[in-house]
Amino acid sequence: MNAGGDHADDEPREKCGVVGVSLAGRDAARPLYYALYALQHRGQESAGIVTHDGFQQHSHVERGLVGDAFEAGDLESLAGSTGIGHVRYPTAGSLDKSCAQPFSVSFKSGSLGLSHNGNLVNADEVREELAAAGHAFTSDGDTEVIAHDLARNLLEEDLVRAVKHTMNRIHGSYSLAITHDDTVLGVRDPMGNRPLCLGKLEDGYVLASESAAIDTLDGELIRDVRPGELVVLEPDGSGYDTYQLVERDSTAHCFFEHVYFARPDSVIDGDLVYEVRRELGRKLWEESGVESDVVMPVPDSGRAFASGYADAGAETTADGDPRPEDDDGIEFAEGLMKNRYVGRTFIMPTQDERERAVRLKLNPIRSTVEGKSVTIIDDSIVRGTTSTQLVELVREAGAEEVHLRIGAPPIVAPCYFGIDMATREELIAADKSTEEIRERIEADSLSYLSIDAVAEALDASRADLCLGCVTGEYPFDVEGEATDRPVDTPSTDAPAADD
Ligand code: AMP
Repeated sequence: MNAGGDHADDEPREKCGVVGVSLAGRDAARPLYYALYALQHRGQESAGIVTHDGFQQHSHVERGLVGDAFEAGDLESLAGSTGIGHVRYPTAGSLDKSCAQPFSVSFKSGSLGLSHNGNLVNADEVREELAAAGHAFTSDGDTEVIAHDLARNLLEEDLVRAVKHTMNRIHGSYSLAITHDDTVLGVRDPMGNRPLCLGKLEDGYVLASESAAIDTLDGELIRDVRPGELVVLEPDGSGYDTYQLVERDSTAHCFFEHVYFARPDSVIDGDLVYEVRRELGRKLWEESGVESDVVMPVPDSGRAFASGYADAGAETTADGDPRPEDDDGIEFAEGLMKNRYVGRTFIMPTQDERERAVRLKLNPIRSTVEGKSVTIIDDSIVRGTTSTQLVELVREAGAEEVHLRIGAPPIVAPCYFGIDMATREELIAADKSTEEIRERIEADSLSYLSIDAVAEALDASRADLCLGCVTGEYPFDVEGEATDRPVDTPSTDAPAADD
């Protein structure tokens, strides 16, 4: 979906998962289905698979979780040893099946299937140009815009040039798994905003948003797809070719993938997400540790952070001095129990429902908190609903003091590139200081992690990260928003074949 200023806040912003496989002689549908299961956390609204059997394309796209979207017969009808898959979760707007993916289309020079994670910033402009050239659109999503642009280029040039020209035309965030007939492609935008990685299977190759999907298929992670790179899998599963089609001076990796969105067991841009989260927790202790009786995570999102925080707290005191040997530091406890059958609080549409969902989802263990000073660790505060409810719950269970430590900086602005972050009006930190937020959530103390600590934990310079949601300045040109670097000017004419 196209991005824009605050006026665009009611439009869907897709946080999605993509996968593609090319196998030697074995049907791709089942591995794709398993991989989508591994990526389920990246989208719960719809799931789909497109395969190609060498003659024709097959597609099955349905609303719901992966387990509900496919029946055994559906997988059998998805013939062919190459294909792609997608899980999608639009955060607002209609639950329109025409936006569910993979998007598939047949045209003069073959068939295309497209799975997209991210958001373009110039989709409207490209759509208008294509519509003027006679392309008819069936959805208002930006994925279809990419498909049509690619289809148009493919009428005139070979696959690699066609992809390159589409990459020069579209701007914004995109990790793509594409089928062109029985060839599977992976493309990552030139800034590498969303993750995409390449893996080897026993009898083929796989492209996936996260390496956890490769693990699920008993495969081996080869590496991340590089920003601006095209990877083409051989249709017979025997190998792959890569082309560095676009180069940029900086990257814009989304730091929030590491903080919240990705699975902790995934390796993204070379780092195991779990270890990054533990390191963020360590830094949280170093920056703002508080001596309390117990430290406990908000399950599951705060767990790795709390473990790093408690480890660092066992080594040094909150003042940064080595901890004396007779001082055990802070007890780490699982003081909050999670009802695993309640979905993410975020998907509740009204504030009232969101508050109830937190109570349904989390319950304190009285003996861990009663009469104690307690530090609760979570990865992020978005609207403030979870923290407000938790502080209250933990106090009601008898805690004497409740401190809150957050493993990310304050989220002050929306995400336009694939993560549902709520609107500016809803974001508690958009117009409040940390002290005002502390008062609002009634914690005894509250600290967030600094942006510099995030960059250090990711071993990246700030200039190579997308920090839009914590600075309000974006790496792509979003209408009505500030940018943090010189951004590309989208070309309005079809680019000349320069290669
Ligand atoms: P909130 O209650 O709105 O402040 O949201 C904070 C809680 O939601 C934290 O426990 C986070 O782990 C979790 N969270 C953060 N970002 C997201 C997101 N984009 N989608 C769903 N949950 C999120």
